[in-house]
Amino acid sequence: MIPRFNYSYSLRDTWDGITGLLFNKKPNTSYLNDLFPGAAIYFVDSARMGIKYALLAFNLKPGAKIGIQPYTCSSMLAAIAAANCRPVFIDINEQLSLDCDDLRRKLTGLDALIITHTFGIPANITQIKQLTGQLPVIEDCAHAFHSWYEGIHAGNFFDAAVFSFGNGKFPSVGGGGLLVINRRKSSERVAGMLGKLKSSGLVRELTFAGRQLVNALIHSRVGESTLYYLLNENFLSNKSQQISDYPTHERQPYRSVGYAMQRQFTELAIMSMKQRENARYLIDRQNSHYKMLANVDDAGNSFAIVLLSHRRNELYNFLRKKGIGAGKHFQHAKSWAMQFGYQHGECPNFEQIVGEILTIPCHYGMISSDLQKIDQCLNEFTQSNNLTR
Ligand SMILES: *Cc1c(COP(=O)(O)O)cnc(C)c1O
Repeated sequence: MIPRFNYSYSLRDTWDGITGLLFNKKPNTSYLNDLFPGAAIYFVDSARMGIKYALLAFNLKPGAKIGIQPYTCSSMLAAIAAANCRPVFIDINEQLSLDCDDLRRKLTGLDALIITHTFGIPANITQIKQLTGQLPVIEDCAHAFHSWYEGIHAGNFFDAAVFSFGNGKFPSVGGGGLLVINRRKSSERVAGMLGKLKSSGLVRELTFAGRQLVNALIHSRVGESTLYYLLNENFLSNKSQQISDYPTHERQPYRSVGYAMQRQFTELAIMSMKQRENARYLIDRQNSHYKMLANVDDAGNSFAIVLLSHRRNELYNFLRKKGIGAGKHFQHAKSWAMQFGYQHGECPNFEQIVGEILTIPCHYGMISSDLQKIDQCLNEFTQSNNLTR
């Protein structure tokens, strides 16, 4: 199976983790200052923790209303609840990010807003800035490392931003994330709160490094093929239906994540370029047949290719059978949102699109025969079903 995402934790990362821990090295994070000039940057244990602490930093009243699109990771809804706030659902547009017309309608009730650069395609920042004025805004950049908007890196535009480095995100270093605070006043509060969290001892750190190595094997070509034969799709689908919870014990991030980031950082520009080229290759060949989306900006990273189709489920099964790790990304987003108060019909675009979204891999771990195979399989599906766009 061509893996859906790249879980790239390697023996080298494990080794870097072990030696760093034994010699008690402090991970160097100065490379991040170039991406977020003037911001206060914190490594956190996950993006969801970053969201909670960004919300706490705004000092909102209990039960504050946080605007968010329902097409997102369930962990974001769990994080809003963990910060003692409530989500208000705002519809998405054709780029799968916030719909500004719906935002305008719902704006007056909001105490803060989370915007998502879904699949790395920047949200409509100019218009959102005009609409929101003084409202506190957080950018969810979990898909948007190396996404640029008018030449500026995502995460620099509003009060705060979060990034995620776990579970097949880019870069993938086993876990953790970043919290970027662009408001000076909030950064002291955040630093105070995060500083009080417990850090992991050597045993926990080593267990983490080992677990990530196993995780990388499971999501390798052989690992994913094995899972495909052993487990049925219902099992996988039921698993992804569960809410991705907020942790019961908050901790400092694992230090080995910092070491892995430091090592990978010099290679990230090349990885982004490779992903962008992969995405462009497939989109150029297929966009006469399918509606496709990706961040293919000249300097940006393509996190995944999105293909929109009314026959999403059939195409998914077809591709998986052929050994292509397609994904029904956030397929359960509506049922997740309903557990946090979403009412049927609240966001009609979202309800229509969520069932049409299929992701196609384009990560840097792919080789040219993978791309050709995906191209051929998509052609086969088009021909056998007489599809034209
Ligand atoms: C994965 C993801 C998150 C959560 O990241 P964690 O680091 O796992 O907390 C948030 N938002 C989006 C859009 C994601 O895909």
